Order: sequence, then C-alpha cells, then structure tokens
Amino acid sequence: MYDVVIIGAGPAGSSAAIFTSKAGKKTLVIDSDQSVTRRAWLDNHYGAPGISGPDLVETGKRQAIKFGAEYVQAKATKVVAGEGSLTVETENGSYEAGHVIVATGMFADFAEASGIRTKPGTEPRIKTIVDATSEGRTSLANVWAAGTIAGVSMHTIITAGDGAKVAINLISELNGTRYVDHDVLKS
Ligand SMILES: Cc1cc2nc3c(=O)[nH]c(=O)nc-3n(C[C@H](O)[C@H](O)[C@H](O)COP(=O)(O)OP(=O)(O)OC[C@H]3O[C@@H](n4cnc5c(N)ncnc54)[C@H](O)[C@@H]3O)c2cc1C
Repeated sequence: MYDVVIIGAGPAGSSAAIFTSKAGKKTLVIDSDQSVTRRAWLDNHYGAPGISGPDLVETGKRQAIKFGAEYVQAKATKVVAGEGSLTVETENGSYEAGHVIVATGMFADFAEASGIRTKPGTEPRIKTIVDATSEGRTSLANVWAAGTIAGVSMHTIITAGDGAKVAINLISELNGTRYVDHDVLKS
C-alpha cells in the first residue's frame, strides 16, 4: 500500500510528490498526460527565467523520482473509501493508498466520479473545482486537493506552491507534528 497516491503530474502534483517522497512517504503519481502546462512558455515562474512548460513538468517529475516517487501513465477513474484505506481505480488496475491528493488541473471528472464535493470555478476558464478547505482537505476523508482543481490561480508558481502546501499538511498529519523540509547549503 502507498502512503500517498497523487492524481496528476502537473506542477501541483509533482511538487507535492517531491515533498512526500523526500519525507520518506511511499508515493505513487498517476498521470494521463493531458497537462495544459505542456502548451505553456513560462517567463513568470520565480527562479526559473524563461522555461518551457514541458521542461518544467519533466524537471519536476525527475526531482520527485530522485526521492523515490513512482509514476504510472494511466487515467484514474475514481477513489473509493474502504476499511482503513482508499482504493484508486484506473483504466488498467487499482492501487491502495492511505491518502490521496487530487491534482487533476482543469479536469473535475475524477472528483465527480468519486463523489467528492465540487463547486463552480472562480478562475477564468475553470468550470468546476473541488470544494476544498484552505488546508486542501476535501469532503472525503484522507483525500486532499491541490492546484487548479482546488481553485487556486492557474499559474505554475502558485499551483506548484499549493501542491507543496498540501503535501506539508498531509505529512504533518502522518507524522503527528508540524513538518519542515529544509536543506542546508554545505560551506
Ligand atoms: C497555453 C497556456 C499558457 C500558459 N502560460 C502560463 C504562463 O506563462 N505562466 C504561468 O504561470 N502559467 C501558465 N499557464 C498555466 C499553467 O500551465 C497551468 O495551468 C497550471 O500551472 C496548472 O497546474 P496543475 O498542476 O494544477 O494542472 P496541470 O498542469 O493541468 O496538470 C494536471 C494533470 O492531471 C492529469 N490528470 C487529469 N485528470 C486525470 C485522471 N483522471 N487520471 C490521471 N491523470 C489525470 C493531467 O493529465 C495533467 O497532467 C498556461 C497554460 C496554458 C494552457
């Protein structure tokens, strides 16, 4: 069983995966390769002057894999709560998880099929979002939401930041104490 299964490998999903895998949480990312970020050119992503969306997405994936995150390319269809765990169903197989992070961008069908409470979007061109708390919790226990699908502004620095925020809240819950992930520059 995975500690965390993340649906979506855009800035929100992979940013979350970097934190959860680096915190030693067994992490799986399921992605259907439909990220709109792949069509972006980014001149406003703090710290990364002039980078293509595909390069940002691939770099984020490599960072998470470096810390042990696993990636599978598949379409996740829904999450079902069971005795003490969650089952994420995909078009080709299912996965057990303690927690799930929904980071599906503009796509709300996974959340709707899972019976997760949604509401109309408030950002331009975003029809439906998950009704998530400021921490990232959804109406389904142990299921969280991050990025565009959680209603934040649709910009990579913000969706990546939201993925990190939600991951730190989840890790803190698993560890039972507030989590901090700081590395020190070796002198
Ligand atoms: C043309 C264009 C230009 C842009 N330019 C900029 C810019 O200059 N600066 C900027 O900051 N932002 C820009 N953006 C916005 C930015 O790219 C992203 O929209 C934003 O960062 C979204 O991140 P996300 O992780 O929430 O979603 P996404 O990056 O869309 O990732 C969601 C992922 O979830 C996966 N997924 C969805 N449903 C499922 C499912 N059921 N099963 C498995 N996987 C699933 C998708 O395949 C996708 O990979 C631009 C967007 C577009 C379209």
